[in-house]
Amino acid sequence: MSEAIIEIEQVVFSYVREEGGENIPALDGVDLEILEGSFVAVIGPNGSGKSTLAKCFNALLLPEKGRVRVRGMDTGDDERVWDIRKTVGMVFQNPDNQLVSSIVEDDVAFGPENLGVEPAEIRERVDAALRSVDMYEHRKKGPHLLSGGQKQRIAIAGVLAMESECIVLDEPTAMLDPSGRREVMEIIRRLHARGKTIVLITHFMEEAAQADRIVVMEKGRIAFDGTPGELFTHSGDLQDLDMPFAVQLAARLRKRGIDVPKDAISEMDLVEFLCASK
Ligand code: ADP
Ligand code: MG
Repeated sequence: MSEAIIEIEQVVFSYVREEGGENIPALDGVDLEILEGSFVAVIGPNGSGKSTLAKCFNALLLPEKGRVRVRGMDTGDDERVWDIRKTVGMVFQNPDNQLVSSIVEDDVAFGPENLGVEPAEIRERVDAALRSVDMYEHRKKGPHLLSGGQKQRIAIAGVLAMESECIVLDEPTAMLDPSGRREVMEIIRRLHARGKTIVLITHFMEEAAQADRIVVMEKGRIAFDGTPGELFTHSGDLQDLDMPFAVQLAARLRKRGIDVPKDAISEMDLVEFLCASK
């Protein structure tokens, strides 16, 4: 059994309206454990609380009720905030808001510099992180010369250079073109294969289908938590989810009497099944 990196217990959170009036509820009793080495996708309609939840993971927001622990550290404990932020690294949606330096490698070094890592080790970490996202050759460039997908890969390298165990990505591909999206997903899959814990918030079902677990948020609560296969076959009572193409096709084939297995959720699964059947 893997250990939990993040434990969320009965978390309630609402935003305080500055001009007065009712608070805006965002999380309404969320229980969730993120296990070491897992790849969890979080999906759900706009305003369902996904980003708020992500910000609770590393003490950017503190729960109003309930508890969030990262490797056993309570996010409400002021003295552990930096250890928590080092353990859980975040990548956000807008590639242009995340890069702060005028040279790519300086940007990647920013995190470890702030953690007080020795210069020689920073050098090693930055080079390794840039290689992990296939951006080493671009290390001397200005971020403004990069595509959106490359910028997101640099943001991911920044988290890797801090040696975060868990990477939380909040719609990292939302502002990218299809090729940028593919690049970023390829890096995410690779990091997961190398043992990083990944939490990917996404609007794209095809991306969520690549995770080993999908959590669906609805109105500040968890409406579903299970494997992609379970979600795609038992989603009748969830709000109109936009199913991946392969899942829709499998459902149509089943209607025509072709006995497609329930765990066929990607194009590749379908190709393998159809090629194997006569
Ligand atoms: P999601 O990421 O799923 O779209 P959010 O966590 O951003 O959802 O939002 C949850 C709820 O909190 C929504 O009703 C949203 O309007 C509200 N909200 C989010 N951020 C703020 C904020 N900074 N101030 C006030 N309300 C907010
Ligand atoms: Mg959001």
